[in-house]
Amino acid sequence: MFPVFAEVPAYPLVFVVFWGAAVFFGLVMARHLRVFAAAQASGPNPLADIPARTLGLIRYAFIQVKMFKDPRAGIMHFGIFWGFVLLTIGTADIVTGGIIQTILSLPFDGLIWAAISAMQNVVAVITLAFIVWAFERRLISKPARLTYNWDALTILLMIGGVVGTELLAQAFEFAAYGDKPGAFIAALLAIPLRNLDPGWLQAIFAILWWAHIAIVAAFLCFLPFSKHLHVATAFPNIYFRKLAPRGELPAMDLEAEDATFGVRTLADLGWKDMLDGFTCTECGRCQQACPAWNTGKPLNPKHFIMGIREMSVEAEHGLPLIPNSAIVRDTYGLDDTIKAATMAKPIVDDAIPFDAVWDCVTCGACVEACPVLIEHVDKIIGLRRNLVLEDSRFPAELNGAFRNMEGVGNPWGQPPASRLDWTKGLSFEVPIVADVAAAGKLGELDVLYWVGCAAAFDERNRKVARAFATCLDAAGLNFAVLGQEESCTGDPARRMGNDYVYQMLASANVDTLNRYRMGEKTIVTACPHCFNSIGNEYGQLGGNFRVIHHSAFLRELLADGRLRVIDDGAAPRKSVTLHDSCYMARYNNVVAEPRDVLGAVPGLDLVEMDKNGKNTFCCGAGGGRMWMEETRGTRINAARTDQALSTGASTVATECPFCMTMMKDGLEAAEGNAGGEVRAIDIAELLAESLAPKELAGRQLPVLQ
Ligand code: SF4
Ligand code: SF4
Repeated sequence: MFPVFAEVPAYPLVFVVFWGAAVFFGLVMARHLRVFAAAQASGPNPLADIPARTLGLIRYAFIQVKMFKDPRAGIMHFGIFWGFVLLTIGTADIVTGGIIQTILSLPFDGLIWAAISAMQNVVAVITLAFIVWAFERRLISKPARLTYNWDALTILLMIGGVVGTELLAQAFEFAAYGDKPGAFIAALLAIPLRNLDPGWLQAIFAILWWAHIAIVAAFLCFLPFSKHLHVATAFPNIYFRKLAPRGELPAMDLEAEDATFGVRTLADLGWKDMLDGFTCTECGRCQQACPAWNTGKPLNPKHFIMGIREMSVEAEHGLPLIPNSAIVRDTYGLDDTIKAATMAKPIVDDAIPFDAVWDCVTCGACVEACPVLIEHVDKIIGLRRNLVLEDSRFPAELNGAFRNMEGVGNPWGQPPASRLDWTKGLSFEVPIVADVAAAGKLGELDVLYWVGCAAAFDERNRKVARAFATCLDAAGLNFAVLGQEESCTGDPARRMGNDYVYQMLASANVDTLNRYRMGEKTIVTACPHCFNSIGNEYGQLGGNFRVIHHSAFLRELLADGRLRVIDDGAAPRKSVTLHDSCYMARYNNVVAEPRDVLGAVPGLDLVEMDKNGKNTFCCGAGGGRMWMEETRGTRINAARTDQALSTGASTVATECPFCMTMMKDGLEAAEGNAGGEVRAIDIAELLAESLAPKELAGRQLPVLQ
């Protein structure tokens, strides 16, 4: 009946063994999905953005681009994954009665199937080599970021078993019954076996063949309980990845009658969050990149995601594999639906400790590192929202920052009347938008300079504002600032979980900007946090603005020739290292721009830190951490300062006022910088110092005075 497998004893049993396991796999997966369905928050729309989602699937799931950031692990994973996929052609043929082989043997006198057999032999040998390599990593070299347990070893053994038994069974089959076209490696292996007793050859072939099927079936039964479930879930997880800008946190409707403020329990998560949990490969790339974990704090993004998975699995306990029908439930009272109580367990202090929730600097390094595109930050902010808005459970220091933002529109608590104090000492007037509007000259405005609270109130950052304004003036631009009409964008409040204060501040700013029709203008800012809020988040509140970071704007001015530097070869050479801001490089892909500005400054030699560009290491101030005490572990800014000093650079260039503060403090405290010779200087200051005199029109630069 199945001529292709005539030599296999009891072949039809394969349908029971394999398809029985496949049904079991499907039922366990369906039970996982019942927990997903009990989640209340909505997830992505499966029918929207199909082209972008499909492209992402190809890039991240099939080509696995993120895996190659660690080239050794990337090559190994790619080899095992694709080897396993290609070899499933043979297994699929076995479990479908040889139909694939029969069809593909028809054209060209069987050439296609012979070619596939040859390819499978080669792939099997390569895959086995990669599996040996994987064992070496897990048992001998043992990278610190991996989780070591029997799960990974069991799966590796199973994959090795599936591949090895298939190849060896073929070799014994050829020795016992004669070669088949294409499978040349099996044919080579069969040569020395031919001396054995034919009865033994047939018996060993049968054992290996059935061992192959048994391991495949065991794999299917084990997979839904293993972290290797990601071989199935990574595809939907990547397909349904967040497509909104990475820096845009989910919108919150504070007015809705049934509003849940943030995430407290499993039920408050979305199905995609749970899918994230089941997709975590435990690879530890997020943990390895996390500045909080790296400085000895309790936050471990890997453990957080694994914790969500464990809570989801716990919620399944007691559910039968085959759900009762509605009739059975009603008639016999056998209610096997998920109990609300199992979904109502708080996540904080279960999947993640309370302190860890507040250790996060929202740097996004975990999200950037994750090969299966898991979103950690949005979940952590969801937890903060609930802790702040429902429980008032947050570090005491935040009270002051919240009060200041709500009361006077800036976290420093400075009077709005002092917002323009930074302009003192400039030899030109900085126009105020209200005055420009009153004079009927808004149409002549080239650009609105959004100063930001740090540059308005912090003494060191005021110098950056003066340097940047000098560049704008030197370029002959018509620019203006909002002055007292500007308030905090709300970014710190939002990242600290207080969306109420965020929405209050952001709505006021949106109203102001819309009143002056700034949607038709360009807004430039030197603050990445303001940039991210205005550009990526204000759309949720009806504000759609073109905002540009000062690094990109200065690059444009240099490229257009509106800004020129003195380049007479007299500038002494000095080395500079650039500290990339997380909210520019990682969140908004601004990497080349600050480097191009530095490249235009005569005499500067850029030396990169190991962690640069999108792999930058946070300064420690993001996510509202600027206003929190750092009492656990060592200081993040000290770790980053050490990285900067290890380059030997004499200057640390910054592009963010928060980074400026943290790097300045770090450099002043660093033992390796005794005498304070290495200083933090913003890219605008470095450029302003070298502008050609005619651009300066005889003015003295206020930089670093
Ligand atoms: S955002 Fe940064 S600090 Fe927060 S968990 Fe991720 S890597 Fe760690
Ligand atoms: S969350 Fe992503 S990066 Fe972190 S361990 Fe899981 S798969 Fe790896």
